[in-house]
Amino acid sequence: MLEIVSFTLGPAQTNAYLIADSETKEAAVIDPSWDGHIILEAAQKRGWRIGHLWYTHAHFDHIGGAGAIADALNPLPLVALHPNDHVLWRAGGGGAMFGFDIDPGPEPTIDFVHGMKLKLGSVEFEIRFTPGHTTGHCILYVPAVRVCFCGDLIFAGSVGRTDFPGGNWDTLVKSIKEQVFTLPDETRLLPGHGPETTVGEEKLSNPFVAGM
Ligand SMILES: [Zn+2]
Ligand SMILES: [Zn+2]
Repeated sequence: MLEIVSFTLGPAQTNAYLIADSETKEAAVIDPSWDGHIILEAAQKRGWRIGHLWYTHAHFDHIGGAGAIADALNPLPLVALHPNDHVLWRAGGGGAMFGFDIDPGPEPTIDFVHGMKLKLGSVEFEIRFTPGHTTGHCILYVPAVRVCFCGDLIFAGSVGRTDFPGGNWDTLVKSIKEQVFTLPDETRLLPGHGPETTVGEEKLSNPFVAGM
C-alpha cells in the first residue's frame, strides 16, 4: 500500500513527499525540497529505506534537500529527472538568482520519459511529461489510488509561474488540459506548493484554467 508523508520546507515553502510501499518499506522522495535531515528522520522512524529521489523539475527549492539525504545513505539513492531539466539541475536549480547555493546531491541517472512506468515496491507510478513551468517538468500519477504528484504545474486555485527561463504559458495550459484534466475527477492533486486539491475541483473553480 502507498503511504505518503508530506513536508513543507525551505525558503519557498515547497512541499516534499516521502512515499513508501508500507509492505516492502521501499521509499522514495518526490521533490526533496529542503532540510533533508527532517525527511530522512521521518523515513528512519518508520523503518523505510529511501532508494530513489524523483524530481518533478529541477528548481532549487524542489531539490535543496537532496544532498543531505544522499550523504546519509549507502547505497546512494537513484535520481530521476526529465533530460530537458538537466541544464537547470547543473545550474543549481536557478538558486543563485535568489541568493541560494544548494548541494544538488547525486547526478540524475534515470531519464523520465512520457508514459514511463516506475515501481516502488508493488505501487506503480506513471510519468506524464508536462512542460510549461520548466521545459522538463513531469508529474507522477498513481492510477491504483488516483493520486497525482503535480509539482509546479497546477495548484489549488492557481498554476505554475511561466516567467522563469524555459517557462511558456501556452505550453503550461496545454499540459494541464491534456495531462491533468484527463485524469478522473476524484484524483487527488498533491502540488509543489500549498494544500492538496482534486482534478474535479480545479476543473470547476481554478480561475486560470477552469472550463478548459
Ligand atoms: Zn518550480
Ligand atoms: Zn516550486
